[in-house]
Amino acid sequence: MGVSAVPNVDVCVVGLGPTGRALAHRAMRAGLRVTAIDPRPDRLWAPTYSCWVDELPQWLPSSAIATTIPAPTVWTKVEHRIDRPYCVLSKPGLHEALPLDDATVLAQRARTVDAHTVELADGTTISAATVFDTRGLPALGKRRAASAHGIFVAEETAAPMVAAHEGLLLDWRPENGAGPDEPPSFLYSVPLGDGTVIFEETSLGLRGGMPQHELRKRTLNRLAAHGIRLTGDEPSEAAHYPLDQPPPKKGVAHAVPFGSRGGMMHPCTGYSVADSLALVDTAVTAVLHGRDPVAELWPRQARLVYWMRMRGLWGLGRLTTEQSIAMFDAFFSASPRGQRALLSAHDDYTALGAVLFNTVAHTWPFRWRYDLVGWTHRNRWLDYDFDQAPVSAARR
Ligand SMILES: Cc1cc2nc3c(=O)[nH]c(=O)nc-3n(C[C@H](O)[C@H](O)[C@H](O)COP(=O)(O)OP(=O)(O)OC[C@H]3O[C@@H](n4cnc5c(N)ncnc54)[C@H](O)[C@@H]3O)c2cc1C
Repeated sequence: MGVSAVPNVDVCVVGLGPTGRALAHRAMRAGLRVTAIDPRPDRLWAPTYSCWVDELPQWLPSSAIATTIPAPTVWTKVEHRIDRPYCVLSKPGLHEALPLDDATVLAQRARTVDAHTVELADGTTISAATVFDTRGLPALGKRRAASAHGIFVAEETAAPMVAAHEGLLLDWRPENGAGPDEPPSFLYSVPLGDGTVIFEETSLGLRGGMPQHELRKRTLNRLAAHGIRLTGDEPSEAAHYPLDQPPPKKGVAHAVPFGSRGGMMHPCTGYSVADSLALVDTAVTAVLHGRDPVAELWPRQARLVYWMRMRGLWGLGRLTTEQSIAMFDAFFSASPRGQRALLSAHDDYTALGAVLFNTVAHTWPFRWRYDLVGWTHRNRWLDYDFDQAPVSAARR
């Protein structure tokens, strides 16, 4: 196999999802010599990404945002308006905001990715002072998952449920047809700024996830409850990925995992894009100053936050629908700082500890707290068979 010599570079970024592209772009802008690798570097990303507006870094232009929802809604037993702007990112806008004009971009698949060398499928070897591994998440298997089935519906059709500039972040109203003995899921629905609204039934924390057919059925039940009927030709998207991809260990001589691959997938929300974008400059600055990016990205406080969020993920994966509603009701009554500590902040461990404690302490009836912390029903939904689901009262 022919091995062509490629000049040494400062940084090699393997994988050009939103994370890798942002990292390569910012490293290039900082004056580093960058090589970026992806089999399809110019392809627009498939998923629709959203986040809280205040999570995005200052350097990102507003053209990366497709639409903003000033105060999204969470439905538990009651309606909570969250006074914190939320946005849907524009895929072309984000892509254009991250040009790689001064980087070397190779349309290739990496075969091996090491601390200082990357071997490509065609045999080329790249050597770099720092290699970032931004290849995204490994396969799900039986890991704790985010599963979602999203249907894109025209704004006029969606209007009875979601008006312009409004959004349902978590809709736990009992309208999805699932009974009390079935694993819970909620609806996520936001306008995308292109004339459509996504309706996405979502399950968080189940080992192996919830199947698409179940999620689709639940989405359609919710729409029907609001008098919305679909043609069946609407486009859809599917999500099935692990939520428990850990941060890298310190002092291990591997490429630096970054983005969803490097512990930035939030274990309780399934989001990683905004946090990764916000941390890009921390990684680039570390490289510029010859420091260890892993140590800079993952100080003790951030690792503690990750550890606590993992407790949250395990809790999510064993609750019933009623318990989830009680728990989210308690959580969304917490202070804005407490909510932010769980949902966004990378290292606010004191506020996160407090909000987790208070959420458990305010969940009622008392005995449900044992489920929340895992003293009882630790593996409630393990190996749940969705094809044998009981016919619940709600479905009859
Ligand atoms: C339907 C759906 C909706 C989602 N919604 C949101 C959301 O609203 N907000 C949010 O934050 N997150 C959301 N997510 C999660 C989201 O996928 C990830 O957060 C995000 O894509 C992670 O970005 P990344 O750059 O880390 O990895 P990825 O986007 O997975 O990118 C990895 C890249 O690496 C490349 N690659 C893989 N192997 C190789 C190799 N061997 N050599 C070279 N390149 C390689 C791939 O081609 C790809 O371009 C959603 C996911 C799905 C599926």
